[in-house]
Amino acid sequence: PVRVRFCPSPTGNPHVGLVRTALFNWAFARHHQGTLVFRIEDTDAARDSEESYQQLLDSMRWLGFDWDEGPEIGGPHAPYRQSQRMDLYKDVAAKLLDAGHAYHCYCSQAELDERREAARAAGKPSGYDGHCRDLSAEQVEAYRAEGREPIVRFRMPDETITFTDLVRGELTFTPENVPDYGIVRANGAPLYTLVNPVDDALMEITHVLRGEDLLSSTPRQIALYKALIELGVAKGIPQFGHLPYVMGEGNKKLSKRDPQASLNLYRERGFLPEGLLNYLSLLGWSLSADQDIFTTDELIAAFDIADVNPNPARFDLKKCEAINADHIRLLDVKDFTERCAPWLQAPFAPWSPEEFDEAKWQAIAPHAQTRLKVLSEITDNVDFLFLAEPVFDEPSWTKAMKEGSDALLATAREKLDAADWTSAESLKEAVLAAGEAHGLKLGKAQAPVRVAVTGRTVGLPLFESLEILGKEATLARIDAALA
Ligand code: GLU
Repeated sequence: PVRVRFCPSPTGNPHVGLVRTALFNWAFARHHQGTLVFRIEDTDAARDSEESYQQLLDSMRWLGFDWDEGPEIGGPHAPYRQSQRMDLYKDVAAKLLDAGHAYHCYCSQAELDERREAARAAGKPSGYDGHCRDLSAEQVEAYRAEGREPIVRFRMPDETITFTDLVRGELTFTPENVPDYGIVRANGAPLYTLVNPVDDALMEITHVLRGEDLLSSTPRQIALYKALIELGVAKGIPQFGHLPYVMGEGNKKLSKRDPQASLNLYRERGFLPEGLLNYLSLLGWSLSADQDIFTTDELIAAFDIADVNPNPARFDLKKCEAINADHIRLLDVKDFTERCAPWLQAPFAPWSPEEFDEAKWQAIAPHAQTRLKVLSEITDNVDFLFLAEPVFDEPSWTKAMKEGSDALLATAREKLDAADWTSAESLKEAVLAAGEAHGLKLGKAQAPVRVAVTGRTVGLPLFESLEILGKEATLARIDAALA
């Protein structure tokens, strides 16, 4: 059975790289009818926060992910927060020390730095040099007497490690490139290097799918796994698949501190979770060469980790918006109107609840649905229906109101007054006729009408907008513009 895990650290805000990792693990688990374990890697008390933990859960729910073991639901390997599993790690560290797979290292940071610099200068590998691997009892005594507090370091076997990455194929690491590494701090706190593979072992994870940034820790973890198997802690070594980097602006790695990377930003702008997931799945994967819009069910049905491309993927906001726009079109109208609700209220909407008009909203919604890229755009697109007066935007006004606009508006008013207000087509003919009277094409004739009535130079289809706003308000606004 497939068992995968999503195991973020609750530091800062969730970011898109994290979401892509969660998505691929989720899709992989669901595709194989496997188990998704959600584990919280909160062993770094200085950086982890409860707020960030809550945000993670909330984001996972919002995205529509579900997990089979983890926070809020528990499971056979509970607890799923590493901060509550400290005794387990202490126990494993002690076993590793006893069996000689790990040793106490007394080197101070200054000594490590100095030797690393010297190795670099001599063109030698600059990782840990094995200084404390085989200390005599006297040396240990002497270090203790100096008051040094040791860290626990894992003893890498002197052998080449080869594994077949599910995304990258066969990879080989020679011992010079994988030095002994710390697994427990001097203060007794276990490190990621220990707790992550120990939990993967205890939770019987079969496939580790994670970002390429963690590739260098894989040979270390494989060596640790071998020791854990020997100690009876692990049953086997999982398979590993490293997902490609996500590049942001300027072809630089998208960092989690990048504003463009913040998941909250996408939520606030009104991306649909399904649109965002569709786009993020394309960062390293594709459904087929000619279909880039698909549902999460289609993604799950088709997902194969072997299809993930190892090359860096570029995050393209424009494409992300275009895909989201397509998902907005796919909603049924009722769903669309409901999802817009947050942006039709304070703090986003500038109108009061009393000014809001449900019938007008229902009438305009289908026209909005075919035009929005993100839901937050709804507010500016419909405010003319609810505000007593259109917003006043100086640049729009100057842009649309040229010499002769007043004359045009006056004619348009006249024609609109005589038009059939149950038909947008009739309103269009009215403005068309007004334009003709002044030698203007429809586009040019529309502009002043649009600004006079909606306050903006761009917006939803004008004649439907006028029809929904109603004759009285439309004519009053044109009068106000003429005054
Ligand atoms: N907590 C680690 C991180 O968020 C997990 C890495 C892994 O998947 O092994 O980077």
